[in-house]
Amino acid sequence: MLNMFCYQCSQAMNGEGCTVSGVCGKGPTLSRLQDNLIYIIKGISAYYYHARELGYQDEEIAAYLSKALYSTLTNVNFDEEDFLKQALEAGMMNLKVMQLLKKAHIETYGEPTPTEVETGTKEGHAIIVTGHNLKALEELLKQVEGSDVYVYTHSEMLPAHGYPRLKKYKNLAGNLGGAWHDQRRLFDEIPAAILGTTNCVLIPKPSYKDRMFTTSIARLPGVKHIDGYDYSEVIEKAKSLPKLPEKPGKYKLVTGYSTSVVRSIANKIKQLVESGNINRFFVVGGCDVPTKKNEYYRRLVEMLPKDTIVITLACGKFRINDLQLGDIDGVPRLLDVGQCNDTIVAIEIALMLAELLNTTVDKLPLSIVLTWMEQKAVAIFWTLLALGLKGVYIGPVLPAWLNNKDLLEILVKNYDVKLISTPEEDLKQILKVEK
Ligand code: SF4
Ligand code: SF4
Repeated sequence: MLNMFCYQCSQAMNGEGCTVSGVCGKGPTLSRLQDNLIYIIKGISAYYYHARELGYQDEEIAAYLSKALYSTLTNVNFDEEDFLKQALEAGMMNLKVMQLLKKAHIETYGEPTPTEVETGTKEGHAIIVTGHNLKALEELLKQVEGSDVYVYTHSEMLPAHGYPRLKKYKNLAGNLGGAWHDQRRLFDEIPAAILGTTNCVLIPKPSYKDRMFTTSIARLPGVKHIDGYDYSEVIEKAKSLPKLPEKPGKYKLVTGYSTSVVRSIANKIKQLVESGNINRFFVVGGCDVPTKKNEYYRRLVEMLPKDTIVITLACGKFRINDLQLGDIDGVPRLLDVGQCNDTIVAIEIALMLAELLNTTVDKLPLSIVLTWMEQKAVAIFWTLLALGLKGVYIGPVLPAWLNNKDLLEILVKNYDVKLISTPEEDLKQILKVEK
């Protein structure tokens, strides 16, 4: 395992890279803390980009991004403690940007309400939209109105169905597939035009490359990119392809549990907690990883006692969102609150519960079990730590830059961060804490 890897200046060892310690004096832990900060900044930037696309800006976030990035330049800041403080500051800035994006989404599309989403196909031509960009989705929906071209969401686009001013479009037909990594199989199988709108697009197979398009930030080699929001080429492509048959899905998915929806049943939840009918809340979700190890999350949820509520979000939800968990006296046991940026909704729900139950968020009967893939997850992880949440479970595999003893020790010592083991063992530990 490399101690560190940095090749950002011309002093890099042997002209290749500093891998043991920096020629400049930067040690491995400092190097990884700087990487940590850069990855949080990437996550914040993604959310800020989407907020700006909807016309929402914040001078403080913009100024913060340049300051934080500057601090990782060569020979600026060698203070490990400061980079730990900066990670927490970045976590709070990520909270702020998630709040901004939530405001942008709600003011533009209305606040989500629980919505059943079809997983089959309607007879007609098809466009699949993948990524996180609700603006691109809406612009496309406007342009197919009244035609027999149906629009299907994929992966992190599923929560779009919960927004009143998106679900009003009759051509929004349902959701196909699961997390981002099934796209090569799904797009190969379904003769649809495809629009990739953000990160989590994969280099396409030749079989569907000519019917794939990118827009906004996304770009793929050999794939037509559309600047702006005129999607007539995507629609023409869809019309040139065979129609999909009328075919119901095996199940329906439910999304759209916004803060307001949960607030409307908050007193009921309070009574159920006080009467012992609800014993614990779990947040299970995050960025899904295409590995067998991620079967952990489904098994964990399947094993949960019936007096637990599961809040889920991001594409990790596809591990569990077809499970029929039922309800506790009318309160659904599985609440899909949205995309990864909608972690803000899960946080608001946790803060609301803490207030209702007259406690603090770290003392709530709440366990957070995250799947971790890329850099938005790093930003969200530090938001949770900055809010004082301890004992967060992460897995299935740590990103390589975090795989350093010093960094892990800091996370375990300061925040009681836990790496997932088996669902049986982790659940035993979690429920033991409760007693
Ligand atoms: S900044 Fe330091 S650690 Fe990085 S390449 Fe230059 S000398 Fe090496
Ligand atoms: S949750 Fe993470 S891995 Fe999943 S689609 Fe969104 S950014 Fe990608």
